[in-house]
Amino acid sequence: MTSGPEVDGAPSPASATVRAFLGLGSNVGDSRALLAAAVADLERMARVRVVGLSRLYRTAAVGLEDQPDFLNLVVEVATSLGPFELLDEAQRLEREAGRERTVRWGPRTLDVDVLWYDGILIDEERLRVPHPRMEERRFVLEPLAELAPHLVLPSGRSVLEALADTLEQAVEVLDPPKE
Ligand code: AMP
Repeated sequence: MTSGPEVDGAPSPASATVRAFLGLGSNVGDSRALLAAAVADLERMARVRVVGLSRLYRTAAVGLEDQPDFLNLVVEVATSLGPFELLDEAQRLEREAGRERTVRWGPRTLDVDVLWYDGILIDEERLRVPHPRMEERRFVLEPLAELAPHLVLPSGRSVLEALADTLEQAVEVLDPPKE
């Protein structure tokens, strides 16, 4: 059980635990180990509990295509962090994995996206949730469907319904990541 700070004895709203989904990807270095280490870091993180972990998927890079395949997975967390705090932690994991932000959509050791946070909508440059491109990406929808097939996305479709429209994108299922 996690709890947040209290002000004047009243529980702060931040102490409520909500459900969120993170999308993790890597296509540089030992991607399998990097993803396993990131999941282990999430498991140790204060105010975050990992409650679901998808299988691991291999996908061809989208956007900038002349780069190595990506490994992707989705993690479900129960967290008392606010959405921006969760983004801060996601970005800390990226930094710790040595990601260099040189080329947009280019290779990265670790990419952590906040896909969905408690069903709320945020549309700011620093944080857009649900993630604006998640409904078009099989490498997000397929692992998410393992954990939350009936989650309703901004289009009004469930994850399974959105996934049905992305099946022309090839993905390959791999064994779970190992550290
Ligand atoms: P990228 O390099 O594609 O991973 O984009 C990172 C940038 O997107 C950062 O500046 C984030 O603040 C911003 N961003 C906006 N929405 C999200 C989100 N849902 N998850 C992660 N980063 C986001």
